[in-house]
Amino acid sequence: MQRASIHRVVLASAALGALLTPAPALAQDRPLRIIVFGAHPDDCDQHAGGTAALWAAKGHAVKFVALTNGDAGHQSEGGGALATRRRAEAQEAGRRFGIAEYEVLDNHDGELEPTLAVRQQVIRRIRSWQADVVIAPRPNDYHPDHRYTGIVVQDSAYMVVVPNVAPDTPPLRKNPVFLYAYDHFQRPNPFRPDVAVAIDSVIERKLHALDAHVSQMYEWLPWVDGTLDSVPKDPAARLAWLRGQRSGRPLPDDVRAALRRWYGARAEGVKEAEAFEVCEYGRRPSEAELRRLFPFFD
Ligand SMILES: [Zn+2]
Repeated sequence: MQRASIHRVVLASAALGALLTPAPALAQDRPLRIIVFGAHPDDCDQHAGGTAALWAAKGHAVKFVALTNGDAGHQSEGGGALATRRRAEAQEAGRRFGIAEYEVLDNHDGELEPTLAVRQQVIRRIRSWQADVVIAPRPNDYHPDHRYTGIVVQDSAYMVVVPNVAPDTPPLRKNPVFLYAYDHFQRPNPFRPDVAVAIDSVIERKLHALDAHVSQMYEWLPWVDGTLDSVPKDPAARLAWLRGQRSGRPLPDDVRAALRRWYGARAEGVKEAEAFEVCEYGRRPSEAELRRLFPFFD
């Protein structure tokens, strides 16, 4: 009861804010445009795949970009052959999510550096996509490719509006909202779930899309974990195994609290969620704008 009351107050203040301040120039009559960056050709899928599927199902345009080609992510394969395999897996995953594009850049896996050249690759893609929302990892992570993906995307916030930077691609007139995807790292500061999205309605779609990354879900990642022997060979059985690995875990308390802020009492029934933190360097959205960018809470 108390949670429902808080929810009503939040909704009322959001409505009041919309009356008092002119709505941002976010066009409501065109589909939203979302671009998600990951270091490897399965990272976007894991961190934002459910939310991407929800956006796509509503007709919004979602693009995934892997900054490396994944050519180091296997225990017995590598190089160009692995990159080719992983590009095909990413395309199939994108098709299963229902998103518009999945681009895999040809930077080497395990060797990504936060160079000006990579930053410009990112700036050009954010501009070309005319992005309203940009999602990337935070720059604190166990994997250097993940860290540097976070840094180059963060470094692109604001630069996407500067005409003299990467002048071959027209600048955006408005800085997008930049968001960090969820992680569990604590230093130097823990992730803050500003937005949490219930993905129960698309969790099977997400698992089906992750299932397309055969080289990762059923070969490389279990090998790293020392659990390769536990992966079934039969496709249906291994998808069931993946479901056990990737769903059904209790949600962290802070994500549950964020769900309550956005969904009110309905948050209690949510089993699967993805969460995002607003980056200070992009446009700072009001609650009303976040509700337009995440049209899932009503
Ligand atoms: Zn990765």
